[in-house]
Amino acid sequence: MIHTIADIATEFEIRPGQVYTVLNDLGLDHDGTSFEGDNDTLEMVKESCLENMDSKVITLKPNCTPRDVANALGVPQAEIQKSLISKFKIMKAIANPLTEDEAGRIVTSYGFELALAEGPKPKPKVDPRAAIKVGGAVKRPPVVTIMGHVDHGKTSLLDYIRKANVAAKEAGGITQHIGAYQVMLDEGLITFLDTPGHAAFTNMRARGAQVTDIAILVVAADDGIMPQTQEAIQHIQAANVPMIVAVNKCDKPGANPDRVLQQLTEYNVIPEAYGGQTITANVSALTGEGVPELLELIILQADIMDLKADPRGELKGTVVEAKLEKGRGPVATLLIEEGTLKSGDNLVVGQTFGRIKAMTDFRGEKMNEAGPSAPVEILGLSEVPAAGDKIEFFADERTARVEAESRISKARAKEFTNGGRGMTLRDLRSRMQDDGIKNLNLIIKADVHGSVEAVKGMLEKVKNDEVETKIILSGVGQITKADIDLAAASDSIVVGFNARADGEAKKEAEKRKVEIRTYSIIYELIEDIEAAVKGMLAPKFEEQELGEAEIRMRLQFSKKGIVAGSYITEGKITRNAKVRIYRGKELVHEGEVATLKHFKDDVREMTMGQECGITFNNWEDFQEGDRVEAYEMVQINA
Ligand code: GDP
Repeated sequence: MIHTIADIATEFEIRPGQVYTVLNDLGLDHDGTSFEGDNDTLEMVKESCLENMDSKVITLKPNCTPRDVANALGVPQAEIQKSLISKFKIMKAIANPLTEDEAGRIVTSYGFELALAEGPKPKPKVDPRAAIKVGGAVKRPPVVTIMGHVDHGKTSLLDYIRKANVAAKEAGGITQHIGAYQVMLDEGLITFLDTPGHAAFTNMRARGAQVTDIAILVVAADDGIMPQTQEAIQHIQAANVPMIVAVNKCDKPGANPDRVLQQLTEYNVIPEAYGGQTITANVSALTGEGVPELLELIILQADIMDLKADPRGELKGTVVEAKLEKGRGPVATLLIEEGTLKSGDNLVVGQTFGRIKAMTDFRGEKMNEAGPSAPVEILGLSEVPAAGDKIEFFADERTARVEAESRISKARAKEFTNGGRGMTLRDLRSRMQDDGIKNLNLIIKADVHGSVEAVKGMLEKVKNDEVETKIILSGVGQITKADIDLAAASDSIVVGFNARADGEAKKEAEKRKVEIRTYSIIYELIEDIEAAVKGMLAPKFEEQELGEAEIRMRLQFSKKGIVAGSYITEGKITRNAKVRIYRGKELVHEGEVATLKHFKDDVREMTMGQECGITFNNWEDFQEGDRVEAYEMVQINA
């Protein structure tokens, strides 16, 4: 039976292109106007349309023409051609293919998002291993990340553990850094992620990939808690991951482990010795003293957590490290979380795909299978994936390719529609509508612990029916680059209360378009967030440069006072402009234009290369050679 797409679009008051998206997602082919299927298929399409009515995605085939776009949007073909010319200066015959960029622009100008997809996407095939699931969950090794301040001994500790427990046991075995390794103890296995520092931990968590089960916080006993130690504590606490503190460098003469334990209490980390819950161990990464005890504590903690996974379950895993290697192509280290990965499997990894050509463990030994918590290095992906990308099993390479390509075009369309922008308070509303965002993610930094708690407590209550605030991280101290990284990856806004952003953080925020808002009055902070959630943020103004002029003459007129005979050197000057006057580098006046004249006539604006007479409100002390900088204040959250 043939069904008409236009009928369905009319029934649900959506555009035909939105129906294409549904058809494509269901794996049904169409010719732009109709599709074939029985009554059940029609019902399924209608149900999907109902569910996806709010989605603004229009799916077209690559190389689509203005005619295809017109059909998809349900507008006359001539209108699309006219729009292409008037809005984008693009001249195209009705049946000539548009580039992806051109198609994206025209679709976006109608308020939709373009996804390009090669025909219908076949339904991802289920991993047959999931179907023969018999085993159920079994105990799995813990995944451990080591964090702490620079030079406190993270790398040394990881190296010591590896040497003492891996290399010695594997006679002649050469260990290589693939981003993770495992140690075998009498009590069990432990997987260590060996990219120390919290950047990797944070980036992964922000992308929704939490692979760490236990975090080891390394604190040097001679140095005590330092800024990055604090930051690590914040990140670990925010992620709700159990922490074991390794007080390192205990061999050093100046070491004072007790002072470290006491310092920890100031950061809400209460060691067992102080009646709290946090396990600590005094170690030396240099002599190895205390390290076996630390490993035992990790196993003990893992036992308490009762970590389990099903080796026969559906395959799940995450990229922990990936790079392009000369002669080998894209190389990725995966950590398997559930199920078993096999050499020869077809995977989609983030936006890339491939068939596993070779699979090795951290010793460089070839392996054919990897189960839960095992790190493996794989070859065979078509591109380098990103750390934190999830892996997905596909029955054949072609299906995997189609899925990866569809993800790429969706990601591109998204990037195009929001220009790759980070989240800002003022576009919260539109992003909610366009991207279905339901949370306002916040990162809170404040001067003291008390204010962090106060701000957090008040913000947690800010919500309405549609949007809820979600605190991704909160902590004491300045706003740092790590906060911006987390914000960029998690679409968060950074809120500082009596806390400012350091230089590096400011630069990074500008680059990655992350909004930083700083306050010193708690009610202003709460009011702004409340207003944003309600979509009623008070008008906010931003300076917009207009142009520059040079004053060339002082012209004395009896009635009108002194006029600055000027020459516009850049942009324009308007009658309502605000101005700053510079003499050399010195700012000599800030005020407004009073009158703007071209010969005798009052004019609204004058542009570059023109001469004009300017008077300023309540100011006449200008000189020849002064530079006028004109600007206006424009509302940025209209
Ligand atoms: P990371 O920046 O945290 O990875 O720190 P490193 O592992 O690079 O260590 C920094 C410096 O501290 C190096 O010179 C190490 O040799 C030294 N170091 C690390 N652990 C210990 C230790 O337990 N005792 C002593 N005496 N020195 C250590």
